[in-house]
Amino acid sequence: MLNFYDYIIIGAGIAGISAAETILKYDNTGEILLINNEDRLPYKRTSISKRLAAGFQKEELALKPADWFNDFQINLVNGKVNEIDPFSKSILLNSKTIYWNKLIICTGSKATEIYSTFDQANGLLYFRNAADADFIREHNIVNEHIVIVGGGVQGIELAEQMHVLGNKVSLIHHEQYLMNKHFDRFMSSHLLEILQNKRIDINLKSKIKSIQKSDNQQFIIEFENSQSLFCDKIIVNIGTKPDLEIALAAGLHTNKGILVNKSLQTSHPDIYAAGDVSEHENGLVTGLWHAAEKQGMIAGANAAGQQFTFEKINFRLKLNAFDQYYFSMNPQINNPDFESVVVNKENKYYRFFFKNNTLHGLLMINDKDNAKQLEQAVREEKSKVEILNKYG
Ligand SMILES: Cc1cc2nc3c(=O)[nH]c(=O)nc-3n(C[C@H](O)[C@H](O)[C@H](O)COP(=O)(O)OP(=O)(O)OC[C@H]3O[C@@H](n4cnc5c(N)ncnc54)[C@H](O)[C@@H]3O)c2cc1C
Repeated sequence: MLNFYDYIIIGAGIAGISAAETILKYDNTGEILLINNEDRLPYKRTSISKRLAAGFQKEELALKPADWFNDFQINLVNGKVNEIDPFSKSILLNSKTIYWNKLIICTGSKATEIYSTFDQANGLLYFRNAADADFIREHNIVNEHIVIVGGGVQGIELAEQMHVLGNKVSLIHHEQYLMNKHFDRFMSSHLLEILQNKRIDINLKSKIKSIQKSDNQQFIIEFENSQSLFCDKIIVNIGTKPDLEIALAAGLHTNKGILVNKSLQTSHPDIYAAGDVSEHENGLVTGLWHAAEKQGMIAGANAAGQQFTFEKINFRLKLNAFDQYYFSMNPQINNPDFESVVVNKENKYYRFFFKNNTLHGLLMINDKDNAKQLEQAVREEKSKVEILNKYG
């Protein structure tokens, strides 16, 4: 490893990889150091919850083969950066001080924790990394009663996967509806019925008061309404929060995430932040794969002397559960500024959100074949007449 790099990227998730790949486009002589704090090559994180039951080999989900890094002279090293010194423009990695000209922080996010004295060794699990999936596979968790905490996308994906692995599954959600941030009531009820038909026990409006262990080592989850549930394992998926550890210690300006301007520059002119860890001017923390990828590209390009800006783009959120396909993109439920038109035919459901007779948002069930086209239609703000002619 050198003592100085033109570019150092901390975190080799999709934002970090995209930043490295984009730097190459604009500067093919600069030295790049990409720091990976995982136990394998950078991989497709979104697949770990979808492929849990089927299983995957260690490098099966790799974003790039090992040769790619060698071929393009991207120095991929393993380790955790312990410190950033913004004054001397250096980092501390594996007890070594390394200097940089431009730094890009792509440290992503961490699972939000619940208050409990238990951890992985006692059967209370979080699910963020491929290693978490390995843990479940290696411990052969079958024929157990698993409680999933959290009724968002990952919670539901995990409920399905643990069911497929042969477990009894209960899902706890503190709100009245599943996927309440992204679905309307019709879609939530549709999903609820699908899960219940698979004998997944759904507990809505359930707030956990305490978690204890019984004499026979089962968990006892007590709810605020005084009801309780016994189970063998708990998997918590109640959201994520930006991993600010090193940015905070370095004195960079932060709020929920590392504060960045439209160029993805932080409060230090030579430090950029991209992906889940960054917070944009309107308070937005994206938390989505394609958004992190896009931001990585912009931060990489700008670090290499370009001048791109990040504008919020709407991405579709999709959920595949038990052969049902759910799609949500910029839904404007209960927003009086938008006209909502529902089309319900056969096993498909669409709810279009129009403003000035153009399309701005959409909810959909089971029209996977047209999902990409519909995503584009929202982006291009297609006319109401065109949309209803095709889907009405
Ligand atoms: C199970 C799961 C399923 C998901 N499914 C979807 C989906 O279907 N669609 C979607 O859009 N999004 C999904 N997401 C969210 C998506 O994966 C994230 O938005 C995306 O991975 C963010 O990329 P990132 O590069 O910003 O951060 P991350 O992928 O979190 O990568 C950050 C990396 O930085 C490393 N790091 C942190 N601190 C340090 C340090 N000090 N030194 C060195 N390295 C460090 C971390 O270990 C990590 O490897 C899912 C997330 C999970 C966990």
